[in-house]
Amino acid sequence: MKTLTYLFGAIAGLATIIAVSAASAQSIRVDYPDGAPRIASEFNSKQGVNGGKRRARHQGIDIKGKNRMPILAAADGKVLEVDTGTCWGPTVVIDHGKGYDGKKLVIAYGHVGDVSVKAGQRVKRGQQIAQLGNNHKKYKCIVGVRHLHMQIGRQWRGPKKGSYWGHVRYLKDGKRGVNPHLYWAGGKGKVTCFRKGETYPAGTLTYPVACR
Ligand SMILES: [Zn+2]
Repeated sequence: MKTLTYLFGAIAGLATIIAVSAASAQSIRVDYPDGAPRIASEFNSKQGVNGGKRRARHQGIDIKGKNRMPILAAADGKVLEVDTGTCWGPTVVIDHGKGYDGKKLVIAYGHVGDVSVKAGQRVKRGQQIAQLGNNHKKYKCIVGVRHLHMQIGRQWRGPKKGSYWGHVRYLKDGKRGVNPHLYWAGGKGKVTCFRKGETYPAGTLTYPVACR
């Protein structure tokens, strides 16, 4: 019985560190460096950040944090828009150019609080673009748990929003999110913290929150 309990514990533990890419159905084992806040709801997960069951698979990653936790640009880029969605709350969308594989990286940083950048502005990797706020009960999509939702797409929606809300308000391919674990500067599945003064390969991403 003890062995069985251990086994189930191990399986549950493993499940939390494996993110499956929807597009390729390939598993990526996720390694965190020391001090990196853990992802509370993984890419492609059916479990929400509040522990509830999702209706659709998660198209981004969720990282919980305290009020005012800085949100950092995951790479150099240009701010496409700053918007407040009725469900998502304040959101920053950045064009990060092409990834190492030649595919476009457009990132929606959603559920944030105060935003410190403007549309059209160029940003550097690691630069603070926003901070988490005290609005997790105000916006439905934040589901009562303060967190960043970071989602990668290939195509920005643009200024004409129509009646789109949620991820498709910002990314045309919001329903086909791209697995962030493919793009970390340290390699696939290797969450990479931004450190000042360090250089990172072009077309790669660093973690959107600071590591301790
Ligand atoms: Zn999310």
